[in-house]
Amino acid sequence: MADIIDGKGIARAMEKELAEQVEALVKDRDVRPGLAVILVGEDPASKTYVRNKERACKRVGVSSKVYRLPVETTEKEVLALIDELNESQEIHGILVQLPLPPHISDKACIHAIEPEKDVDGFHPISAGNLLIGEKGFLPCTPHGIMVLLERVGVDLKGKHAVVVGRSNIVGKPVALLLLRQHATVTLCHSRTADLGAVTRQGDVLVVATGRPEMISGDMVKPGAVVIDVGVNKVGDRLVGDVVFDEAKEVASAITPVPGGVGPMTITMLIKNTIEAAQWN
Ligand code: NDP
Repeated sequence: MADIIDGKGIARAMEKELAEQVEALVKDRDVRPGLAVILVGEDPASKTYVRNKERACKRVGVSSKVYRLPVETTEKEVLALIDELNESQEIHGILVQLPLPPHISDKACIHAIEPEKDVDGFHPISAGNLLIGEKGFLPCTPHGIMVLLERVGVDLKGKHAVVVGRSNIVGKPVALLLLRQHATVTLCHSRTADLGAVTRQGDVLVVATGRPEMISGDMVKPGAVVIDVGVNKVGDRLVGDVVFDEAKEVASAITPVPGGVGPMTITMLIKNTIEAAQWN
C-alpha cells in the first residue's frame, strides 16, 4: 500500500517558510511582495482558483490585487492594464487567469507581461530559460511537482521518469525539470503506442492528461512514485487522471486528488511572487 503524498500539508509548511521571507523583505527593505491577478468574465472554476490564490496571498502576507473585469472587456483594455501593471512599483508579479474569453488572445496577454513579473512562468522568455537551464520563473504546477518529489525524498538521478501529457503548462516543463535532476525521461501523449507498456517502466510516473482515471493500476510499475496532476469533475466527485484506489495498491507513493499537486501550484505562485520582489 502506497504512502499518500500530503501535498496540502507540504504546501502549508512551505507557506510558513514563505511568510518568514515576506516578513524579512518588509523589515529589511520595506518591500511587500505584490501580486496582480486579472480575471475576465465569470468562469466559475476560474473564480474559485482566483479566490484560492487571494487567500493564499493573505496567509503569507503577500499583497494581492484582483482585477475582476466584465466578459465584454476588449483585448486592448486588458493589454493596457498589463502595461500599467508592468510599470507599477507595488506589483512584482502579474497573472492573467486562463482561459480568457475567446475574443481575447491568451498569447497576446502572456507575451505582454514583463518577463521579470511573469510569475506564472508562461512567457516564452521564461520557457526558454527553463529549456536552457538559465535562471527564470518556473511554471507553478511543474515546479510544485518537483518540490513534492524532493520533500518526500525521491532521488531522481538515473531513474526512469515517464510523463503522460505534453502541454506547455505541465507535461513539457515537468519533463525538462525531471531531466535537469538527471532522470531518464519519456514523454507520452495521445499518439503514444501501447501507453501501458511505457507507463509500466516509470519509476516515477507523472500524469497530466485531463482524462479522468485513464491510468489503471495495471499501468503502474510496482513501487513507482505516482504524481497525478489531473483535476476532473465527474458528477459531484473530483477525480484525477489515475485510478487512485488501484494505483495505491501498486505504487510506493502517490498524490491524492484533491490535496496532492493542486495546493502546491498556488504555493509556487506565491514563491515566484516573493522571488520577483527579492530580485527587484
Ligand atoms: P492539456 O489538455 O493541455 O494536455 C493534455 C495532454 O494529455 C496532451 O498532451 C494530450 O496529448 C495528452 N493526452 C490526452 N489524452 C491522452 C491519452 N488518452 N493518452 C495519452 N495522452 C493523452 O491539459 P493540461 O496539461 O493543461 O492539464 C492536464 C490535467 O491537469 C487537467 O486535468 C488539468 O485540469 C490538470 N491541471 C491541474 C493543475 C493543478 O494545479 N493541479 C494545473 C494544471 C492542470 P496530445 O498532445 O497528443 O493531444
